[in-house]
Amino acid sequence: MEESKHLRAIPSVDTILREIGNIGLPRPIVVKVIREHLEKVRSAGERSFDSALIVSEIRRALNRCRMQKMRRVINATGVVIHTNLGRSPLAPAAVDAVTRAASGYSNLELDLDTGTRSSRAAYLEQSLAVICGAEAAIVVNNCAAALVLILNHFASRKPRDRVIISRGELVQIGGGFRVPEILAASGATLHEIGTTNRTTADDYRQAISDETAMLLRVHRSNFYQLGFVQDALASTIAAIARESDIPFVEDLGSGATFDTQSLGEDAGREPTPAAAILDGANLVCFSGDKLLGGPQAGIIAGDAAHVAALKKNPLFRALRCDKLTLAALEATVDLLLNGQSDELPIRRMMAMPVEQLRARGANILSALDNNGVEARLVDTHSTPGGGTLPALSIDSIAITVRRGGFSAPQLADALRRSSPPIVARIADDRVLLDLRTVLPDEDEAIVQALLALGADRGPLNSDD
Ligand SMILES: *Cc1c(COP(=O)(O)O)cnc(C)c1O
Repeated sequence: MEESKHLRAIPSVDTILREIGNIGLPRPIVVKVIREHLEKVRSAGERSFDSALIVSEIRRALNRCRMQKMRRVINATGVVIHTNLGRSPLAPAAVDAVTRAASGYSNLELDLDTGTRSSRAAYLEQSLAVICGAEAAIVVNNCAAALVLILNHFASRKPRDRVIISRGELVQIGGGFRVPEILAASGATLHEIGTTNRTTADDYRQAISDETAMLLRVHRSNFYQLGFVQDALASTIAAIARESDIPFVEDLGSGATFDTQSLGEDAGREPTPAAAILDGANLVCFSGDKLLGGPQAGIIAGDAAHVAALKKNPLFRALRCDKLTLAALEATVDLLLNGQSDELPIRRMMAMPVEQLRARGANILSALDNNGVEARLVDTHSTPGGGTLPALSIDSIAITVRRGGFSAPQLADALRRSSPPIVARIADDRVLLDLRTVLPDEDEAIVQALLALGADRGPLNSDD
């Protein structure tokens, strides 16, 4: 009796719904969040309830929930291919292609010439083969999926299930992609050779046995080794594989189709898919949304027979891309083949001269009216990110922001809560807005956010 009297004192779902009003979330979501919170309050077994507190806690939970919805953000981190921020923005032509494919029907699996069913992505597969200098190509969901498909097909059946790979290439890329784990999950058996810093052609030769399914090379995408380092040449590994009639596969990761040294002397030379195939790789795989500048995808290119075999594997059906990805990738590759790579946002960002960034920064500063936010231009360095070109740092310009009484993390928080959210970088206890990764049409939003930050509007961390 006593107990139920207190329970009745908890506000009802309807009361809270009325109190909260329109918060920009579908009603069933709001009801779920309210119910869960009330359940928590009930099970806490308190004797009395502060209904205003309950409502404000629910409002905070709903705001957190709303912030998890996908939305456009401004990348002011200076990390061009930022995995947490969706890697490569698409070129306008790719965005148009996605819109067209999404808003109507398409000839996804229909041959318009004969009127019969066709395989999807026939044109795209051909254009990828051309850009890779390969006989054939296919596309799956991402580069991890590409490697799983390749390993599962060529290296998961005993007695030939051993994959020879250098100990220097048992790497981790980003969160959750570890080469030994991918191998194990694909049903292949790892056969490590050489050492962390040195693996020779003889190491490959001596390791080959009747159980060897494949020679695999994995590009050290996100780090580099200096000092007493040696690797066998790809062309030598390819020759060894050919002698034993074993496929040689290269996971290239970034899949730059241009000479990355053009980005800066310290960039280093990423192997292009075409160069890897020319060196004798039977198959290569790489991402669509790293240096290629397209949508998330995994591209496999190489010998016609090997690619055709992969396409028949039931896993290919499970890993294939949807029409939106195919449309975006097709448009992106067309730009590359047409010599219009400067249409790709990531290529444009990486190539933008510092002086242009400085001029944009000066424009932004002149639009601020010195109202409590202290903003200055500083020289800084951007990075390609996305596990590519780890040695490259690109000269850049950033706006540093200060506001009386607030720490750098508090300011970064406030910028992230702006609309649109701005993701900044903190370095040496300063908030930096690196303009290299801010799209030029986003400069105005930076001005507005800084003006709002300067205006007196109470505590910066308010959730309401
Ligand atoms: C990035 C990377 C991958 C993973 O690519 P996703 O497209 O993110 O799946 C695999 N291998 C290498 C070498 C990479 O650099």
